[in-house]
Amino acid sequence: MKKGKKIYEGKAKILYETDRPAMVIQEFKDDATAFDATKRGSIKEKGVINNEISAALFQMLESKGIPTHFVKRLSDREMLIKKLEIIRVEVTIRNISAGGISKALGIEEGVVLKSPVLEYHYKNDALHDPLMNDYHIEILGLATSKEMKKIKDYSFSINEILKDFFDKVGLKLVDFKLEFGRYKGRILLGDEISPDTCRLWDKKTNEKLDKDRFRRDLGRIEEAYQEVLKRVKA
Ligand code: UDP
Repeated sequence: MKKGKKIYEGKAKILYETDRPAMVIQEFKDDATAFDATKRGSIKEKGVINNEISAALFQMLESKGIPTHFVKRLSDREMLIKKLEIIRVEVTIRNISAGGISKALGIEEGVVLKSPVLEYHYKNDALHDPLMNDYHIEILGLATSKEMKKIKDYSFSINEILKDFFDKVGLKLVDFKLEFGRYKGRILLGDEISPDTCRLWDKKTNEKLDKDRFRRDLGRIEEAYQEVLKRVKA
């Protein structure tokens, strides 16, 4: 697989063309940003760790019937993926209150929610990723209602699968963000699933093992990411 020219560089990843038009290489960087990219830094080996965690989780989800963009891991920091037409809607699912929902609704952090909460955010840096609903998605023409139904069903299924998977390795899945895209007429799960995009707390101690360690300057950031990798691989 030949690495071609850079197509896109985001905050945590770079996409490259390959010699096959339907495939791209996703390269994971160590760069980290938070609070609308006003906080910037780098987490040692994060790219390597997130590549490995994402690859393992995509494979696990595929084995349970969730279609993803993952093809194979190519190197420490690179995976081969199907080239998606990204739907500009970020899907968040929350099982326990933290971050945005605590702030917006005044729920203290750590409350187990009566049922999982699904949110959409418009993937638009200039507008600071505002919260949106199905009507907003409709008027902006971001996806059809049929596509959104599929995305919602996949998201809740993914939540159940991931919750169960992490529970078995002693982690609580507090919340996470997903992105989907179109590929040959189908909806596939894209982007990454990692401690950058999930909140994960140790089941016994409630220790945060995710990007909140960076956001809130809690220290031992790399150790937390390594710990998640160790458990995912266990
Ligand atoms: N998240 C993400 N990318 C974003 C915003 C949020 O991956 O641009 C993840 C975040 O890591 C958390 C979940 O989505 O696991 C919910 O985040 P929240 O809406 O609470 O926002 P935050 O607290 O990150 O501002």
